[in-house]
Amino acid sequence: MVVIATCQQSRLPFGITVRRVGKEYEFNWAFKISKSSAKREGFDRNKVSGNIYNASTYPGCPHCGATTWFQCGKCKRFVCMRPEQKIVRCPICGNEGEVSVADSFDLSGGDM
Ligand SMILES: [Zn+2]
Ligand SMILES: [Zn+2]
Repeated sequence: MVVIATCQQSRLPFGITVRRVGKEYEFNWAFKISKSSAKREGFDRNKVSGNIYNASTYPGCPHCGATTWFQCGKCKRFVCMRPEQKIVRCPICGNEGEVSVADSFDLSGGDM
């Protein structure tokens, strides 16, 4: 499955390949994707939820190199983030707030 995330710095989209491991989801890889293909591919067709963790292969944001991510509490988009960041701002909806740890996420993704 692929989910679409957005870079907090550049506001550009990127794709994350997700592997299901039991009841959890592993973020395997991240790659640049164009805005038009992010729309066209329909990456929001499948909705699942569960815990997510980064695999050791997860390369970080392909645009700015930030090694982790957060999910916006408002619009549910995934956005790249540096691990030391305490306050984050969603580039999609402008929601700003402190990062909190969660163990369940809602994922919308499409087939590869
Ligand atoms: Zn980024
Ligand atoms: Zn948002």
